[in-house]
Formats: sequence, C-alpha cells, structure tokens
Amino acid sequence: MKAKLPPPNVDTIAAIATAQGRGGVGVIRISGRNIEVLANGILGGMPVARRATYSNFLDENGDTLDQGIALFFPAPHSYTGEDVLELQGHGGSPVLQMVLRRCLDLGARLAQPGEFTRRAFLNGKLDLAQAESVADLIDANTTEAARSAMRSLRGEFSNAIRGLVDELIGLRMLVEAMLDFPEEEVDTLDVGRRNALLSNIRSRLEHTLDTAKQGSLLREGVHVAIAGRPNVGKSSLLNCLSGEEVALVSDIPGTTRDIIRQAIQIRGVPLHIMDTAGLRESKDAVENMGIARTHQTLNRADLILLVLDASMGVTLQDQEILAGLPVNTPRLLVYNKADLLGDGVPDMPPDPSMNIAIVQVSAKTGVGMDELRSKLLKAVGWRDQESGAFMARERHLRALTLAQAHLMQAGAVLSSAELFAEELRLAQRALNEITGEFTSDDLLGEIFSRFCIGK
Ligand code: GDP
Repeated sequence: MKAKLPPPNVDTIAAIATAQGRGGVGVIRISGRNIEVLANGILGGMPVARRATYSNFLDENGDTLDQGIALFFPAPHSYTGEDVLELQGHGGSPVLQMVLRRCLDLGARLAQPGEFTRRAFLNGKLDLAQAESVADLIDANTTEAARSAMRSLRGEFSNAIRGLVDELIGLRMLVEAMLDFPEEEVDTLDVGRRNALLSNIRSRLEHTLDTAKQGSLLREGVHVAIAGRPNVGKSSLLNCLSGEEVALVSDIPGTTRDIIRQAIQIRGVPLHIMDTAGLRESKDAVENMGIARTHQTLNRADLILLVLDASMGVTLQDQEILAGLPVNTPRLLVYNKADLLGDGVPDMPPDPSMNIAIVQVSAKTGVGMDELRSKLLKAVGWRDQESGAFMARERHLRALTLAQAHLMQAGAVLSSAELFAEELRLAQRALNEITGEFTSDDLLGEIFSRFCIGK
C-alpha cells in the first residue's frame, strides 16, 4: 500500500516547465525543501508567498541572467504539496538553460519526467487517476479529449469510483457483521436483500464502465481500415473524410500499394484511418506485398469500411472480400459512387442476416458523408452524451472489468455469505487500484515515466 506521506529529506527538483523552442515566456519550476537557499542565490531573497514579484535572476557573481516574475507557493498549498518556486523568464532556450544551470549549482537536481506530479500524488494532492489525466490533458489531440481529461482531473472519474467503493464497503460491512455475529440475528440481509443491493452496485458499475469506455475512445482513438476492390473509390473516400488529398486517386486499378494512414477527427473523436491496397488476385509482386499488408491491417482494425461501387451492385469479388474479413471486427458497408446511380438502389448485402450497417455515399459530390460519419461513430461505440465522457485509460477499463467479473461471481454465490463477502472484497480491491490506494512502485514508475519533464 502506498503511504500518502512525503518521503523524509526529499531533494529539491528543478526543470524547465514550458515547451522547447522560442516563446514569449519560459517557466522554470522548482520543488522541494531547499527553496530558500535557491531563492537567496537567484533572487537575493525569498519572494512574498503567492505574490507575483518582479525580480532579476542572478548568477553567482550577482550579474543578471534574466528578468521576470518569481512566484513562491509554500507547502502544502502548491501543486506538489511541497515548497514550490516558479521563475517566469524569457522563453529562449539558452536563457532558460542558464537559469536552470544556476538552480542546479545551488543544489537542485534535474527533475525526471512526471516527477512533480508524482510528488503531488505521493503528497495526497491528486489521486492516481487524476495524476494520469494531467498527462492525458497535455497529450490530448482533440478538444473533446481535452475536455474529458479535464473532467477526470477535476475528479469526476475518481468520484464515480469512490462512490462505488463506498457502496461496496457498506454492503461488505453488513455481510461481515452477519458473519461475525451470527447469533445476533443481523440477518436483515437475506439472499433477496443481498441480491437487490448487489444489483444496484452492478448497474452503477456498468454505467461507469460505459462512460470510461467512451473516454478511452477519446484517448486512444479508433483504427479504421478502408477495404474493397480496386477502383471502388477507397482513396477518394479517405480524401473526402480527411478533407485533403492524402491518397493518390486514379482509375488505374492497383494504384494504392502501401497503407496510407491519416489522423482525422469526427466530432472530437480521434480516428486513425488506413487506406489499404485494393484486394484482388494480382501477378504483380509489389502489389501482392501491398495486399498482404492489407490483410495485416484489417486484422488490427477496430472497424472496417468495406467500400463497394454502387453503380455495379455487389459483385462476386465483393462477396469474397466480405467473406474473408476478420470475423469479429465490426464493419460498415459503404456504397460509393451513389452519384452514378440515378434512382437505382443497389443490391442488399449478400446475406441480410449479417446485420451490417449500410450507407450510400459519393466521395465525388460529398453526398451521404455526414451519415457515414454518424454511422462510423456509432459502429465504434461512440455516443454523444449530455454529461460528457471522462478520460480513462486501458488500465482503468481492465480494473473496472475485473471488478465487474467479481460482482458477477458474487451474484452466483449469493447463498454463501463467506464467498459473497470475498467476491465483494476482490471487486473493491480492483477499484482501489484505479485511484491508487493500492499501487505497486513498478506501476507508478511506468505511469509517471511517460510524462513530460517539468510536469
Ligand atoms: P481506389 O482504387 O478504390 O482507391 O479508388 P480511387 O479512389 O482511386 O477511385 C477510382 C476512380 O473512381 C477514380 O477515377 C475516381 O475519380 C472515381 N471515383 C471515386 N469516387 C467516386 C464517386 O463517388 N463518384 C464517381 N462518379 N467516381 C468516383
């Protein structure tokens, strides 16, 4: 278990907190115990707490390296929970390096990636899910992803988890009291009542898992592969979806030989679209290598857009391709070139029982593209929500799914109070891992090493 106390004699860490390169302002952040020594050396004295103080930043001879604002946040009211000093100077690399060097000469050491946030976690300023959302906010690729990371940082996800844990604790107390004092007739908790309380927690957990899955889509993005015969308009579709000419379009079959990837977003959901080589029998060795890669890509995709030429209906070759797609991957049938159709309606897919969503589009005129975007998001499990998703990671989904499995098992052993209590305990443990109540140092190392330096 992780003690939420600062380790004794923590050293002082310093780093440039702003991005590399030219900028109007550059920030150096310092956290730890010897802030006074550093402030005396660089600023000639301690700045007043929490007040912006215009200062010279001095070298060892008292010469000015830079000028800017100094901010002092005394512990525990700071980001890390320790004494923190921030120096806001000019944003050029050499000038920042000189001021940082001065901090190191005065006894600070260079911070490791994520070390400020790690200290904030260890000092109880943030729980683990919130600390992770700091990195997710910085790394967010779309505004929707940034919003959901902010919701997690403000504690919405952690609060949902804590609410579940509280309910589990309440139920565990009742069951364990019954086990500890069988003669006291604390048996208000008969099997029916156990079942009712458990069902309540299970449906709450399901809702949290569902929202977390949405957040995970925002974080990880969705891999969508475009597949189909040569010349049906796959590259045109990619260009149309991404709004730019990323893939070569030609009416010579076999033009796209390698996978073309393009990152786009639809309503804030990041998508990695992969345009694949047309699937057909070919004698061309290079084209065949492309086709082999197409199969690998299809196997890794979260969703496949199978493109057909609407003016030709479903050909035998289309049917073969459809039959050869990885079985468990969701797919959407896209009838392209709808502009050539007139009033004709293309054939339905070969087997209507396959229950595949169909959409008619024209990559040439743009008709049907909005419907395609909506169906695409629906097929990968995205729903526009009123309250919004909170950012979640694969690690959180695993823990929630594990907790869900234990609660399901608890439902199967309702009549044995001992077994029931044990499953509840295991479910609670899985949930506690999300917020970091029980966390190994290895996991912490892995999480924080992926942060940027200065955060
Ligand atoms: P790919 O081989 O499947 O990638 O197909 P391309 O995107 O290279 O397109 C093949 C040909 O079909 C090109 O001449 C495109 O201009 C044409 N094409 C693509 N989409 C449409 C469409 O929606 N309508 C019409 N009329 N032609 C299209």
